[in-house]
Amino acid sequence: QQTSQAVCRKCRRAGEKLFLKVEKCFTHKCIFERRPHPPGALESQRKHRSTVSEYGSQLREKQKIKNAYGLREQQFVNYVRSASGKRGADPTKELFASLESRLDRVVFRLGLASSQAMARQMVGHGHVLVNGRRTTVPSYRLRDGDKISVREGSKNTSLFGEEVKNRIEKHLLPAWLVFDSKKFEGSVRTHPLLDASVMPYDLKAVIE
Ligand code: SF4
Repeated sequence: QQTSQAVCRKCRRAGEKLFLKVEKCFTHKCIFERRPHPPGALESQRKHRSTVSEYGSQLREKQKIKNAYGLREQQFVNYVRSASGKRGADPTKELFASLESRLDRVVFRLGLASSQAMARQMVGHGHVLVNGRRTTVPSYRLRDGDKISVREGSKNTSLFGEEVKNRIEKHLLPAWLVFDSKKFEGSVRTHPLLDASVMPYDLKAVIE
């Protein structure tokens, strides 16, 4: 498990907010708000950041998305290939939908985990059920109508204690998800729809 600072360092290295921690990113506790420069950068380097070519900025964008979703290079390439290969579909929207339909991403989006990495661990350790069945594959693709819940035996553990309940109650859910924070049950209402307010990355640049 990465420390909070290690996660936030990814934003500082990327030069922008990547929204990797649910409860901190939208508050004054966000480290990037106070230190928006790469870790260890000298004052002179902060002022003279090098200009980046178009290709370089596309690569940077790809790196940011991979970090945000916790993907390896090959996994990400597979998502891009599959999104680009669908006839008549907008590859950007397809890519967004397939990334946002991953089980670990949905667990993060529901506010059950405070970071993407933690959501991945929760799934891997069998705390999450899909349609009543234990599912331990973080990349499992959820479909419209699928039900997500926390395993009965996990509900009373510290992992889902008061702090998590409070966080979920305050958490802003994307329009395609519903969740009952008392029962720890939710579902996928619709296909994830690309919305600039929830996607701070330039997917189009990556597809190109
Ligand atoms: Fe940390 Fe979130 Fe701020 Fe990034 S956006 S620095 S993950 S608090």
